Amino acid sequence: MQRVNSNSLHEEALNHLVGGVNSPVRAFKSVHGNPIYFESASGAIVTDVDGNELVDFVQSWGPLIHGHSHPKIIEMVYQKMQKGTSFGAPHIGEIELAKRVKKRFPYMDKVRFVSSGTEAVMSAVRLARGYTGKDFLIKFEGCYHGHVDSLMVNSGSGLATFGIASSPGIPKDTVATTLVAPLDDIEAVEYLFDEHGDEIAAVVIEPLPANNGLLVQRHEYLSKLRDICDKHGALLIFDEVISGFRFKDGSYADICGVAPDITALGKVIGGGLPVGAYGARSEIMQKLSPLGPVYQAGTLSGNPLAMAAGIMTLDLLDGEAYDRLEELGQILQNAVEPILEKHGNPMRLVRMGSLFWFSPGSSKPPARADLIPSDAGKLYSDVHKGLLEKGYMLAPSAYEVGFIATVHDNNHILGMAQALDEVLTEMEL
Ligand SMILES: *Cc1c(COP(=O)(O)O)cnc(C)c1O
Repeated sequence: MQRVNSNSLHEEALNHLVGGVNSPVRAFKSVHGNPIYFESASGAIVTDVDGNELVDFVQSWGPLIHGHSHPKIIEMVYQKMQKGTSFGAPHIGEIELAKRVKKRFPYMDKVRFVSSGTEAVMSAVRLARGYTGKDFLIKFEGCYHGHVDSLMVNSGSGLATFGIASSPGIPKDTVATTLVAPLDDIEAVEYLFDEHGDEIAAVVIEPLPANNGLLVQRHEYLSKLRDICDKHGALLIFDEVISGFRFKDGSYADICGVAPDITALGKVIGGGLPVGAYGARSEIMQKLSPLGPVYQAGTLSGNPLAMAAGIMTLDLLDGEAYDRLEELGQILQNAVEPILEKHGNPMRLVRMGSLFWFSPGSSKPPARADLIPSDAGKLYSDVHKGLLEKGYMLAPSAYEVGFIATVHDNNHILGMAQALDEVLTEMEL
């Protein structure tokens, strides 16, 4: 595939944008080549500025559960746009989207809309600290919660530790109250509570960690976290920015049977426009300004176009849509597993509904970040490049999951599986 126009735009962008991009993982740094400039996108297909068409399994990193430019979502946003793009005042769309969120997340009495997943988690953490009057947080190695200062931490040496800021620019003091534990290890969490029990405001977790591979957790483990939080008067925050609205049976909280205190949402809830949200029972939410003292605000929060895209996206997610997502996921699994097997399992497919991840190595997929082989990127970058040349786009990083949308068809999936077979053969695996 020729990428002359993409490459020349990238050269130009390097003069104006940091690394040519506005979000680092778009830079293709961990795979071969330059970022691809998109011209347009429709359904499962994106067209780049060189006229190449690619079957897209990134789907804007999760929001586009109905694919690109869904006609009903476009129409709804267009209708609303005629009436104003931003009010900075209440409108009915906020109520409509909040009702739909509450239907899926029954333990939320009240919802607050923001403009990104990062903002949702950041605000949920502030609310938890404000509500409990405590400062400490526990987060998990291998969970991503957006670029929130207090959650941008790596674990130090040892298994359960104080966090070390994972980026310059975050003061030591900011992460001095963030404790880090490995996933899938309840004793590590018990240890942290033994040490700091009275000071811990919240345990923050992706109940389905999907930003560092797909690290499916045991339900009993999540349920134990609930028990420990209750015992010590800490809140449990579920970051469902990826997992929220992905599954037919409800939230991931419903699937694992564990109710969090606060839930953070993003991605699908905005259907491709910038929306995040967080919510909890009334007792917690009423601590939030304007009812309570915990301040949080936003010029574009509850934006009418974003609410409209979210409402239509959720309305299109009926039982049939979820059944289709599961069916497509199953088709992917049935097609890909024998191919990986045939090539000696250089990686394993991990799948939950419409989310999938190629776990590197032949062993059982891990539940902890530190069990992912450290050379995961090498194999993946060749697979990624090979698939791209054949017209299939996966995320440009070994640690990112793939997304199936309701608009993928069987041939998109089977075509990708066949391309994978060819790529692995070319790689002499
Ligand atoms: C994407 C993501 C975020 C951050 O959301 P942004 O909209 O990128 O700020 C937070 N948490 C999880 C689990 C995510 O997947």
